Amino acid sequence: MKELKTLVRPNIWSLKPYSSARDEYKGVTAEVFLDANENPYNRPINRYPDPLQEELKAAISPIKGVPAENIFLGNGSDEAIDLVYRVFCNPGKDNVVAIDPTYGMYEVCADINDVEYRKVTLDEHFQFRASDLLAVCDGFTKVIFLCSPNNPSGNLLLRSEVETVLQQFEGIVVVDEAYSDFAEQRPFRCDLQQYPNIVVLNTFSKAFGAAAIRLGMAFASTEIIELFNKVKYPYNVNKLTQDCALEELRDVTKIHQRIVMIKEARASLMQAFAELPICTKVFPTDANFFLARVTDANAIYDYLVCHGIIVRNRHRVTLCGNCLRITIGTKEENTRLLSALRQYR
Ligand SMILES: *Cc1c(COP(=O)(O)O)cnc(C)c1O
Repeated sequence: MKELKTLVRPNIWSLKPYSSARDEYKGVTAEVFLDANENPYNRPINRYPDPLQEELKAAISPIKGVPAENIFLGNGSDEAIDLVYRVFCNPGKDNVVAIDPTYGMYEVCADINDVEYRKVTLDEHFQFRASDLLAVCDGFTKVIFLCSPNNPSGNLLLRSEVETVLQQFEGIVVVDEAYSDFAEQRPFRCDLQQYPNIVVLNTFSKAFGAAAIRLGMAFASTEIIELFNKVKYPYNVNKLTQDCALEELRDVTKIHQRIVMIKEARASLMQAFAELPICTKVFPTDANFFLARVTDANAIYDYLVCHGIIVRNRHRVTLCGNCLRITIGTKEENTRLLSALRQYR
């Protein structure tokens, strides 16, 4: 990895961050708070929340096996994706490299931040070779985005290729593991110490079943986490979200039970789906969704909408011609999907 200072935008490296009232005073013994122009009435929502979410990070740390100082929390993982651009990429000058197809937010954030986005098409098994990604990098490539399990294909990327990128690329490597709790492979967040250039993304939106509260996680070196903290909005995670997340984390067993249920339903739904006359291929998955090739994706998508069932039409996405992306639902929802499709003609 290059020296961190040479990867960070000069204005961000030298930035003196906004210091909030809650940043300046951090003791616990005080009882009278007249420092932040808050309203003294209307508890408990009258006070600003903890800007660094320390209690929540302490609760997440043992569950994810990542020290609290290596955790950034944001308004969904989308905030962390945007911060990667704002911290590392000089608009109109630097570029990033990503696999194609993959999660759409990487490209949208590149466009918003005026950063060139270079795509490398996956092979027919939705896999990539590290050498192909490294070959399109140049002196202005700051970040490589990898998503594993990948969206929309669902599969884990080959671990050896991801490791090669982490070892050989001298910039930042984002490994988006939004779906890793549905996969069997050891997640990369466990190898933070080994890779000073890695940023692993996780989220409360999928396996934790809390998309509504908008809470994303990034795991990285303390130096990278400090840069994110410097650039983020001071109170980027509100108190309702922090309290709700703490409540959810009190019952980790329940979270794991739901993951097991979804994985069981995934196996039976995929098997039944593969036997449908409209299905020409079901792609293997390590996530809580799968990609399937069908006889006519547009027509079948419209048909399902008419029956009140919404799936994701990926027909126009690279390598996904006539493909639908289907999220694993409850047993009842999966049965409704299958019976509607059995009646399709
Ligand atoms: C759903 C998803 C996310 C989650 O984004 P949030 O902003 O945390 O809801 C992140 N990455 C990928 C690849 C996803 O599919």
